[in-house]
Amino acid sequence: MTDTYLNLVNSGVTAKLAKQLGLPRPAPLRRYRPGQPLLDGPALVLGPGKDADAVASLLSSGWDVDVHRHAAPDARYAAVVLVLTEVTHPTDLSAPVLAAAATLRGLARGGRVVTVSRTAADDDAPALAAARQGVDGLLRSLAKELRGGATGNGIVLDAGVDVDAPSVVGALRFFLSTRSAFVDGQLLTVSSGAGALPDDWEHPLAGRVAVVTGAARGIGEAIASTLARDGATVVCVDVPSAGEQLATVANRVRGTALQLDVTTDDAGARILEHALARHGRIDVVVHNAGITRDKLLANMTPEKWDSVLAVNIAAQLRINEALLESGDFVHQPRIVSLASTSGIAGNRGQTNYAASKGGVIGMVRATAPLLAAFGGTANAVAPGFIETEMTARIPALTRQVARRLNSLQQGGQPVDVAETVAFLASPAAGGVVGRVLRVCGQNMVGQ
Ligand code: NAD
Repeated sequence: MTDTYLNLVNSGVTAKLAKQLGLPRPAPLRRYRPGQPLLDGPALVLGPGKDADAVASLLSSGWDVDVHRHAAPDARYAAVVLVLTEVTHPTDLSAPVLAAAATLRGLARGGRVVTVSRTAADDDAPALAAARQGVDGLLRSLAKELRGGATGNGIVLDAGVDVDAPSVVGALRFFLSTRSAFVDGQLLTVSSGAGALPDDWEHPLAGRVAVVTGAARGIGEAIASTLARDGATVVCVDVPSAGEQLATVANRVRGTALQLDVTTDDAGARILEHALARHGRIDVVVHNAGITRDKLLANMTPEKWDSVLAVNIAAQLRINEALLESGDFVHQPRIVSLASTSGIAGNRGQTNYAASKGGVIGMVRATAPLLAAFGGTANAVAPGFIETEMTARIPALTRQVARRLNSLQQGGQPVDVAETVAFLASPAAGGVVGRVLRVCGQNMVGQ
């Protein structure tokens, strides 16, 4: 769907008028194209200690970024990275944070601010926990202050995880790049040093076989395209009634099509059989198929409740069980499941949908340990408002309001969700387990 308002406030006379009237002016977001440089300008790396040195050297020698360790007057930074892993008291935050503050007015359009910090644990000294937890509040507030399509996100390291662990490096690259255009105000925790960096950052999924459900259109179609672009062979799954669209998508991504209703009892067995027979392996499963049947709970029918739960969560549980029992899903397997901000914050008229999507979040948390022995992970992506046929059905006025209720003041595109799925499916994300990453432009609802 086109966001006419966004186009109007960014073109000629109407842009001027919107400025005079003080109307919200969402900035067009820059999205990833293969071959694009990681950053369009210099990066400033701030923070005391050896972790900041390690991040600076990764950016400059690993990724060819022009790195500054002190803000240069009048520099226009494409990114500011605040490495706060070594803070021990809230007062330690002031020097690096105020140094970053001085650069923010000159942050490039679509600029990036990334914090790197450590998890505040219950057994930390109170001052240490305060400093670490303070980063959380700082990042979420800062992200709300950024303009011009700039985003702020954080990477949080659990105890024992080094700053050069594959998933810290992978998350840093993801948050700095245009792949994370609609991810804003999020803190992603890295739990371990597992995972591996790709030889080729443009094709991190080379040699992997990925199954995407609900791939005939919308977000699923974008996920299939993005995983294929990143090097995966993709099995595109959708209901038989979407067979024609499904075949078009499968051909375009040079994958294969499997017509299948994911709610059928033997869906897991059929997915396995297809992937093994056609491609010899199965490495990634993206549970994207989903439906809405909105009704206030007082008016809910058994059909509406049951069908949503059946597609959005029961099918995923059954398919995962079949994968885990098969003995074939054992090569650093990845499960990425589509949740929703409605499953986190709740949404009027969506009790059934929110129960299913909250269920997804519980499911990935409990499934991740079952995959650990194989170097596997299970994680969820929670989209906010994304421009698809699903959201096109929302009444026009509600749709306009929903689009503006986030820090980027616009809806996301299917590709924004797809890029995040691709990151979580990649070998570099092996240390991210049982987490939910929101793709919502920092939606005002929920945490
Ligand atoms: P969509 O309705 O455009 O596409 C969903 C696809 O899933 C369709 O191709 C459909 O045929 C397929 N599907 C439905 N039931 C199926 C079944 N039983 N078996 C196999 N395939 C089935 O939806 P979308 O907007 O692209 O959403 C994709 C996912 O993202 C869903 O899980 C949705 O809940 C989630 N999500 C979407 C948004 C948004 O704003 N669009 C927000 C949060 C979460």
